[in-house]
Amino acid sequence: MKLGFLVDLNLCMGCKGCEVACKVENEVPLSSWRLRVKYIDIGTFPDTSRSFTPLRCNHCENAPCERICPVSALHYLENGIVNVDSARCIGCAGCMMACPYGAIYMDPETNTADKCTYCAHRIESGMMPACVVVCPVQANIFGDVDDDTSHISQYIMEHQGAVQVRKPEKHTNPKHFYVGGGNQTLNPLAHQRLEGYNLFNNVTHLEHVGDPHHGVIDRFLAPFTSHEHLDNKSFMDFDNKAHESHEEEGGH
Ligand code: SF4
Ligand code: SF4
Repeated sequence: MKLGFLVDLNLCMGCKGCEVACKVENEVPLSSWRLRVKYIDIGTFPDTSRSFTPLRCNHCENAPCERICPVSALHYLENGIVNVDSARCIGCAGCMMACPYGAIYMDPETNTADKCTYCAHRIESGMMPACVVVCPVQANIFGDVDDDTSHISQYIMEHQGAVQVRKPEKHTNPKHFYVGGGNQTLNPLAHQRLEGYNLFNNVTHLEHVGDPHHGVIDRFLAPFTSHEHLDNKSFMDFDNKAHESHEEEGGH
């Protein structure tokens, strides 16, 4: 048996129900996540669309996190799940650095590694992972990829040629698959970079680089360059002068 996941990105509507269910089921601390629904905007206004991609551990068959862990806290279960045993973890964070997908976080309370386990505790009791149960459009398909008759195997066969995994070039053999969603959702490098559409185009100044007398704050004070030594008073002067000239112009 090899348990795997498939997300049909054509169905996912980005409600984040799976993300919330996972947080609650696994008591994931604030600012950490086992499952995250990423979104990207594609196109140029007004011709744009938004695409959602749930991201979780890929339960790789060739998992770098499992190989690097010095105490085997990351280990395979018989059903193929890459499980994590917090009682064994010594908090070295080697697995975090080894995972090419950013799927592992350190629990700030226990200082041990944690990640998606495909809800191994629920599967043991014959239940589906929480994210599968909660999805209103059944975009998450979970099951035995070794069993040709399972729903997930059938889905993979039906979509042959359109099934993708994240970062295939890492040779980790993910058991987490995606259908649909376009190339950009799984491969950030597939994005076309349009000159002139950079968020920081008008606020980033690089002239100060290499100048030891040009502090970071100075960049934001560029409009006040006529003041040699800026203090609170000079700011107020500037404000007052701006206000006076505005009134002189008969401004509102
Ligand atoms: S996605 Fe990362 S954490 Fe999950 S099995 Fe693969 S290497 Fe390990
Ligand atoms: S619950 Fe289903 S539709 Fe909602 S974000 Fe998750 S996968 Fe997408």
